[in-house]
Amino acid sequence: MKHYCLCINCLEADNTSLIWAVGEVESNLLAICRCPNGHVQISGLQHDLFDVLFTSGIDAYRKGFYSESVMSFAASLERAYELFIKLNLFKTDIPLEIIDKFWKEIEGQSERQYGAFCSAYLMTVGEIWNADQNQVGFRNKVIHKGYIANSKKAKEYAEYIIGCLNKIMKAIKENFAEQKSPLYFHIKNLAKREVEKALKENPGAKYSADSRPSLLKWNNRNHEDATFEDALALAERFAKIIGEQI
Ligand SMILES: [Zn+2]
Repeated sequence: MKHYCLCINCLEADNTSLIWAVGEVESNLLAICRCPNGHVQISGLQHDLFDVLFTSGIDAYRKGFYSESVMSFAASLERAYELFIKLNLFKTDIPLEIIDKFWKEIEGQSERQYGAFCSAYLMTVGEIWNADQNQVGFRNKVIHKGYIANSKKAKEYAEYIIGCLNKIMKAIKENFAEQKSPLYFHIKNLAKREVEKALKENPGAKYSADSRPSLLKWNNRNHEDATFEDALALAERFAKIIGEQI
């Protein structure tokens, strides 16, 4: 996934200059970006992984890669399940290091993760999580059978996913307010070593913590349901800003 950050070096040389450095985001949410003037910048995304994957899905949809958008939306939901499971465990005072070890046992098996999430959700919210089997079937056809999604189907799937994510984000804000920040910083600390390595491998590079507005309104203090249309419009606006600058 492409990533854009404002070049600090260019900004320091001329504080009116807004030059964008471009790179690719990896799973550790770091991107090694380069500006047109040759400056290198290690950009660390401040969002949670599920939020970044959702943005990736919206970007793919905007560009007409509908099947690819479905894959990113599906991945986003699975990473939201992961966050919810970990927060639920952390709330019972299980140390984060133990939670990391526990996760390794189910890391490669999405069905086990889904089972853990359904239990955690019922325990926390008191309601049974119901997946829409039509949408699950559609996702499986795209991911496992090479089914090519059209815009209509991909949009319906995106709306289903955003509905699921809204429910999960609301439940997190209402139930895990105290656990959210420590877990977030725990995950970011794990990436610190990789930042140091990237800085060593790219002499002269600078580090920046970056974020573009969450299309899911995840960083809003109070919960507000995100919509597909709003997410699309926000992504379009950001694309225009970037397009004007490059
Ligand atoms: Zn620069």
